[in-house]
Formats: sequence, C-alpha cells, structure tokens
Amino acid sequence: MKTHQCPICGSKRTFLDIIPQGYQYICTQCGLCALRQFTPQEAAEAWNELVFKFPPVMRVWPGDKVKLFGERRARRIIGKNAGRGVLYLETFSGPPEPVRHDDVILWPWELNRKKEKNSKND
Ligand SMILES: [Zn+2]
Repeated sequence: MKTHQCPICGSKRTFLDIIPQGYQYICTQCGLCALRQFTPQEAAEAWNELVFKFPPVMRVWPGDKVKLFGERRARRIIGKNAGRGVLYLETFSGPPEPVRHDDVILWPWELNRKKEKNSKND
C-alpha cells in the first residue's frame, strides 16, 4: 500500500517501525507518527487516515494540480503558504498567481478519482 506524503513537512519518506507491540509509520523527516497497529497493512492505513485528517491545503505540494472555481483546466501548484491558506499557481507567463484555498473546487485526489471514473466508462 502506498503511503501519502507527510502533511507537516512534505517528505515522501515514511518508515515502518517494528516495535514489540506491532507496527507504526513514522515520517523520517519530522517525526510525525501514526498510531501503532498489529500489521504493516493496518499501519499504512492508519498513516493515510492520519494524513487525511489534515486540511487539504496541507496535503498538496508543488507539482500537484488543482482546479479552481470557474476554470476549465487544472493548474499546477508551484508553492504554498499553508498557514495563510494560500497556494501559488503556475501561470503561462509572469509570476506565480496566489489563490485562496477556498477557491479550489477539485483537489489532486478528487481530480484523479474523476479521471479513473472516466477511463472506466470508455
Ligand atoms: Zn514529516
């Protein structure tokens, strides 16, 4: 099972710690850790559940795409200020455009789900 990126520091590296009472996932960079579980599979699920408790603005990272209200195409994120709830999106030319996280209607995980659904219909 794929574990999601750490919502605190953005690290993709998680470590499955084997402890006497079971297993738990820990972020190798900042130390965020999910609850202890009995199997590695459950430990991965617990990590992903923990990640999804964080607000969306903390779960996106440069390179991800979001779709804004009133726009037809998803746009690439090139930076963010999670504390202020601001994402910086790629523009065709010129400096990145700051947008409020409230203006996002589809987050990367919702865009992917939509794509999967469409390909199944084809
Ligand atoms: Zn981390």
